Amino acid sequence: MDQADIVIIGAGLSGLSVAHFLSRLSPDRSVILFEGSSRPGGAVRSFARDGYRGEWGPHGFLDNNPSSRKILAHTGLDKRVQAAPLGDFKRYICSGGRLVALPQSPPALMSSPLLSLRGKLRLLGDLFIKPDPAEQSVAAWAARRFGRGVLPMVDAAVTGTFAGDMERLSIDAVMPGVRALEKEHGSVLRGLVGKKKKGGGSGLPSMLNFPGGMEELIDALAADRNIVYDAAAVAVRREACGWTVECEGGSVRAGTVVCALPVNRALALLSSLSPPPVREIPEAVIVNVLFGVDRGRLELPKAFGYLAPEREKRFALGAMFTSSMFPDRCPGDRVLLEVLVGGRRHPERAGMDDAEMVAAVGRDLGDILGFDGRPDFVEVLRPASGIPQMEMGHTALLAWRRQLEETQPGLLVCGFGWDGIGMNEMMAAAERTAQRIAAGGAAAGGPELKPVYF
Ligand SMILES: Cc1cc2nc3c(=O)[nH]c(=O)nc-3n(C[C@H](O)[C@H](O)[C@H](O)COP(=O)(O)OP(=O)(O)OC[C@H]3O[C@@H](n4cnc5c(N)ncnc54)[C@H](O)[C@@H]3O)c2cc1C
Repeated sequence: MDQADIVIIGAGLSGLSVAHFLSRLSPDRSVILFEGSSRPGGAVRSFARDGYRGEWGPHGFLDNNPSSRKILAHTGLDKRVQAAPLGDFKRYICSGGRLVALPQSPPALMSSPLLSLRGKLRLLGDLFIKPDPAEQSVAAWAARRFGRGVLPMVDAAVTGTFAGDMERLSIDAVMPGVRALEKEHGSVLRGLVGKKKKGGGSGLPSMLNFPGGMEELIDALAADRNIVYDAAAVAVRREACGWTVECEGGSVRAGTVVCALPVNRALALLSSLSPPPVREIPEAVIVNVLFGVDRGRLELPKAFGYLAPEREKRFALGAMFTSSMFPDRCPGDRVLLEVLVGGRRHPERAGMDDAEMVAAVGRDLGDILGFDGRPDFVEVLRPASGIPQMEMGHTALLAWRRQLEETQPGLLVCGFGWDGIGMNEMMAAAERTAQRIAAGGAAAGGPELKPVYF
């Protein structure tokens, strides 16, 4: 039987990031990663054909997170990175069938047609409404604090991140930092003003990707790591001293085990140690349709793209104007859009066949952007992973994980859908996990305040 100081289960972004931080914090300890598939990266996977580039999974992460900034600096990728500054690009919301720019600052919100005068005044209700400590859906919480007028914008925000349903997602799980601020100051607005006075929050960040696609990050993190592929972990057992991880093809003993898997994979593996409150959580399946169009037929504005709230009843969840942000991602005489289809509320659309889906996307885009909707290049990318949904009840799952880690010394759990779903959240949780291991298991601090840019 093999032996290592630390075993990491899963070589997606989370597992690789834990290994990266461990290599710096505890360079003398041996680390093995067990990966169920034949490649590293999990949901991160880049596409290239005929001069076009796209992504099966993540398209970008913001440059405002200390952990991901460290990874970029340590790997030298800070010199390769391509940045699209949020301040230079508009973001649109589909409202009444047309594209309206999303306000990116409080003054812009006050002059935006997306909120009526009454809706704007209602925002201030937040200053007078007492925090309700009970777990609430994102929609119920936002409507109570800021009024129902904000719901289309909130819908767009959770569509753009979770491909989720704001009526089901839990605000306490999705934005624990904002909830903590609200409870501490009695109001979100007061809390944010207080934080700004203390020097928190600066200018708008930039969206990052790499010339070779997001897989460049994975390649850099996976280089020189001890990764065993096609070795899915099937059981984790606590022994008299340490742990045994059984994988397809063998087992390994370790003092510390990091389970760096998406929530549902982790639940399947760990539930024998302690019964969880749920057997699995919902996932949102999305499909990415790459749409290349001749510049003569479609001009794209300088924008990240648009999102369509559910009440608009559009076919697509939204589209990224990829070539506006990163012009080298398609031939010079073309524009490239990446159109997202499906999501938590419309899994049936993600299940459509390619031809039917492309035709529906063409009709939707043609109507919104004012062109004939015919692509000159098309590719339908179907990600292998869904996006875990942190819905009502997720806080009970987090309490279960906390208790599991406390009662099972040497076991740590991070990964897709636990503390968040974004790449920055994975890298931040990975750094905390590595720090806990280096410190002998000490628990991490309170919830982070996650900024919302949509
Ligand atoms: C379609 C899509 C679009 C996204 N877009 C964005 C975006 O634009 N920006 C952003 O910030 N984030 C985005 N994300 C989220 C981002 O991809 C995730 O935060 C991140 O990739 C999660 O990494 P992970 O390692 O936790 O999980 P995963 O990427 O799922 O990796 C887990 C790994 O574990 C392996 N594995 C599974 N079971 C076992 C087992 N039993 N034993 C061993 N190995 C196992 C898997 O093969 C996989 O390699 C997107 C995700 C998806 C799916």
